[in-house]
Amino acid sequence: MSTDTVPQLKIPQSLLPSDGRFGSGPSKVRPEAVDALASAASSYLGTSHRRPGVRSMVKRLRQGLSQMFSLPDGYMVVLGNGGATTFWDMASFGLVERRSQHCSFGEFSSKFASVVRAAPHLGDPEVLQSEPGTHPLPVARTDVDAYALTHCETSTGVAMQLRRPAGADGLVLVDATSAAGGLEVDLAETDAYYFSPQKCFAAEGGLWVSILSPAALERARGLIGGGRWVPPSLNLVVAIDNSTQDQTYNTPALATLFLMVNQIEHVLSNGGLPWAVDRCTRSSNHLYGWAEKSTFAAPFVSQPNERSKVVGTIDFDESVDAAKVASILRANGVVDTEPYRKLGRNQLRIAMFPAIEPDDVAALTGCIDHIVTNL
Ligand SMILES: *Cc1c(COP(=O)(O)O)cnc(C)c1O
Repeated sequence: MSTDTVPQLKIPQSLLPSDGRFGSGPSKVRPEAVDALASAASSYLGTSHRRPGVRSMVKRLRQGLSQMFSLPDGYMVVLGNGGATTFWDMASFGLVERRSQHCSFGEFSSKFASVVRAAPHLGDPEVLQSEPGTHPLPVARTDVDAYALTHCETSTGVAMQLRRPAGADGLVLVDATSAAGGLEVDLAETDAYYFSPQKCFAAEGGLWVSILSPAALERARGLIGGGRWVPPSLNLVVAIDNSTQDQTYNTPALATLFLMVNQIEHVLSNGGLPWAVDRCTRSSNHLYGWAEKSTFAAPFVSQPNERSKVVGTIDFDESVDAAKVASILRANGVVDTEPYRKLGRNQLRIAMFPAIEPDDVAALTGCIDHIVTNL
C-alpha cells in the first residue's frame, strides 16, 4: 500500500499499548529475553552445538518443557530443525502407518492433510471438514492409525478440546504450534504434541519440538526400523536419538534455543503453565468481552468454548473497514493485526500469547475504538 492511501490518524500516546506487537507468528519476543541473549552472546553465539554450552541449553529446554507440561510416564521431548511444517513431513514417514484422519478447519490443519495425500507410501487420508470458525471432531475408524488434530487453528482463531476419539486405538497427533504453552492440555490424550517456538514461546522460528508418547516412540522405531525409506533429515528416529543426547541432528539456530529457554524458565519461575494460561485467559476475556459489547465488532467464532485464548479473530460490520483500521494501527506502531489473508474476511486477528501483556490487549481495543470514532 502506498503511503498516500494510508489514512493519517495519530493515536494519542496515552492510549497506545506498551508494546505494539500483536502478530500470530513470528510474535512478540520479550525485550528482557533479547537483553539476556545480548549479555550471553560473546560466550554462547558462535560456539559448537556439540559442546556443553549449547547442549546444556538443549537440556534446559527439554527439562523445562517436561516440567511445564507435567510429562506423563514414558513421554519424551524431542526436537529438531525446520518448524512444525517439517514435522508434518517427518510424521508422514515416522508416525502414520497406512492411513490418517484429519480434522481440517483452516489453513494449517489442511496442510498436514495435503502432505499425507501426496505421500506415495500412504493411503488416501480421511479429511473431516467444517466451516471456518468451527471445528470438526475426530471419529474412530478401524482403518485409521493416526488422528491429526489442531489445538488452535491459527488462521481462524478456533481452539479445540483434545480428547482421544472414543474407541480409537490409533495415535493422536496434535499440531499445537500456536497453542502449546498458552492453553491447558492433558498430554495423556495425545501421542505427539508438536509446536514451533515463535508463538507462545516468544522466540524465533526454525525449530520443531514434539512431545512423544511411548506409543509414538514405538511406532517411529517400528516403521523406520522396519525398513521404510526416509530422508535422513526427516528421520524421526534420528531426531529421537539425538534428543536423548541433548543435541539436534544438524546445526540448530543457537539464538532460537536461547530465547525459547528464556521464555520457558520465565513462565516456570512465575508459576508454570497455569500462570501462562491465566494471562491468555485475561487477555481473551477482555478481547471477546469488548467485541460482544461493541456496536461494530463481534467475535468471529460463534461458540464461546471454541474461541481461542491465544489467537482472537474479530469480525467488523460493513460500516468499518478492518483493513483500514489495521493500517492505521500499523502507522502508529501497532502491528500485525491483519487477518489471515486467505480467510478473506473483514476482520482483525490478534495474538494474545503469554508474552503479550493483558493490559496491552486492553489498550489495543481502546485504540480501535479511538480509530473508529475518529474515522
Ligand atoms: C505457525 C503454525 C504452523 C507453521 O509453523 P512453522 O514453524 O512455520 O512451520 C503450523 N501450524 C500452526 C497451527 C501454526 O500456527
